[in-house]
Amino acid sequence: KRAEELAAAHLPPVTTDGQHIEVVANIGGLDEARQGVELGGEGVGLLRSEFLYLDRNDAPSEQEQTQIYGDIAKALGTSRTLVIRTLDVGGDKPLPYLPMPPEENPFLGVRGIRLCLAEPDILRTQVRAILRAAPFSKLHIMFPMIANLEELRAAKAIVLEEKAALGINAEVKVGIMVEVPATAILAEQFAREADFFSIGTNDLTQYTLAMDRGHPKLAKQADALHPGVLNLIALTVQGAHKHGKWVGVCGGIASDPQAVPALIGMGVDELSVSVPSIPAIKALVRKLNKADCEKVAAEVLQMGTAAEVRARLSKLAEG
Ligand code: PEP
Ligand code: MG
Repeated sequence: KRAEELAAAHLPPVTTDGQHIEVVANIGGLDEARQGVELGGEGVGLLRSEFLYLDRNDAPSEQEQTQIYGDIAKALGTSRTLVIRTLDVGGDKPLPYLPMPPEENPFLGVRGIRLCLAEPDILRTQVRAILRAAPFSKLHIMFPMIANLEELRAAKAIVLEEKAALGINAEVKVGIMVEVPATAILAEQFAREADFFSIGTNDLTQYTLAMDRGHPKLAKQADALHPGVLNLIALTVQGAHKHGKWVGVCGGIASDPQAVPALIGMGVDELSVSVPSIPAIKALVRKLNKADCEKVAAEVLQMGTAAEVRARLSKLAEG
């Protein structure tokens, strides 16, 4: 089966009724960018830029960041999408060179975009380095943990200011991660001001179900196929499409073959998956019929438990 998937890895992920679903990679650096292309990835839907900042004693310089984002963009080329997520640390992922007061609830604290807006110099430096990669791929900048429109506006203003200051004319799309329930609920309002959405189902599940995503005892219950989470994904897609914006899913659920038909049926445009999953997810998309997926999605959105959803979707996988 794996050999079959690999042979077909460079065929386009189009459903049997002709809907192209972009299949891209979640990466942490240059090696994975190259592997993703080799395995047929159509681009990168999530570059977790934290890897540049963690495990060191000082912040990476603008020059260092420019080099690495440029190398990754060049590895993809101008025909492929590259979504670079700005620094997503804070809370449980502290930086030694950015002392922060301890927090009782780090997942509910100053993390993601909140930290970057509190430390705008860090964000500005990163944004300048990212923008310099614009000529080498289809560049997208994405902000994590957006909970308020004000955050999006402030972060976007920084991008526009730095872009003007650098004299960069290339188009750079600016989008957000949907990881906070309020943002999914207000997707339509956000879609007026963001160029695209990528749903981070790992955090969205954690915040929707009020279950720590790393809790060993809750791992089974903290299922992104909980209908509460699925209904937020559906709302996000509806809000985005009303304003002609695309929606990806970059949480772990995008790499789950059981979930993919439901995601496609809800109208998700892009699946950003772990690098090794690319061939299998592309092969799966090519077997699915979007109209059938829509019927299944409508069914599971009415269900009451993740177990029911999984039972229905596994029946589908059996054919
Ligand atoms: C997510 O929350 O689903 C996500 C993709 O981001 P991360 O796993 O890096 O928090
Ligand atoms: Mg997240």
